[in-house]
Amino acid sequence: MKLTFLGTSAGEQYPGFWCRCEYCDKARQLGGRNLRKNSCAWLDPDTLIDFPPEIFMQAERFGIPVVDARTILITHSHQDHFYPNLFHWRAMRPDIPLPPPHTIGGPRFSPVVPLRVYGNQQVCDAVLARVGDRLELCAMEVHQVEPFREIEEGAMRFVAVPGNHADGDGHALTYIIQREGKTFLYALDTGWFLPESYAEIARHRYDLVVIEGTFGFGVDSEQHMNFRKLEEVRRLFEKDGLLKPGAPFVASHICPHFTPVHDEAAPLVAEKGITLAYDGMTVEF
Ligand SMILES: [Zn+2]
Ligand SMILES: [Zn+2]
Ligand SMILES: [Zn+2]
Repeated sequence: MKLTFLGTSAGEQYPGFWCRCEYCDKARQLGGRNLRKNSCAWLDPDTLIDFPPEIFMQAERFGIPVVDARTILITHSHQDHFYPNLFHWRAMRPDIPLPPPHTIGGPRFSPVVPLRVYGNQQVCDAVLARVGDRLELCAMEVHQVEPFREIEEGAMRFVAVPGNHADGDGHALTYIIQREGKTFLYALDTGWFLPESYAEIARHRYDLVVIEGTFGFGVDSEQHMNFRKLEEVRRLFEKDGLLKPGAPFVASHICPHFTPVHDEAAPLVAEKGITLAYDGMTVEF
């Protein structure tokens, strides 16, 4: 399996949109891996995890065919993870001849791969609010995920558990995904695991773990982890035998102001057995 990170920042991105702190300015000077856009990832060959505003720009940068995605798993409806306005541009009336006459306008003029979007209630509501009247024209289905219930989706099986991170009246979702005999965990905006969620997480053994390192070397919060918490998670997973030998343990969703630029932070966390993701990084597992 192959996972490509299309974005690895928290909400304010890295550098922070409006911040001139030492780290943010250094990232601007250095560029490259030190620049992070909002978190999302592509599970080869057809699945996207989260859908932030820069998704298409990032996909073009890294040569990922997001235009042909069949499945999108959404963690939650916060705008740095989910930007449903972009679905508006999928709509096409069925009676339009192709190629189209130059007398008509519209957002799409080609067949498109049907798309299934999975998420919590907040995500489903947001999709329906934006394109609910045009789902068929957009060749889209939207499915509300029931936590702890396994879902079969093409060649993939997944189960979602609630994160300790509020999304309106609900919770962000952490995904446990199985495909081609491999299992991986995608836990962004999760905070420390809720007991019932950890019970499900601990039922699996992982070939790859991706967890939020949001506050880096700063203090953690109820709703977000930092690197010290990540080290705790790693020790817990090792104690409970959840990591297959050599399984990469990757931090993503990074805030700028408490964590040095990637070039400096990556070697520091590598000493703790944590791989710091960067935009465009591909992990084979
Ligand atoms: Zn976030
Ligand atoms: Zn800053
Ligand atoms: Zn969030």
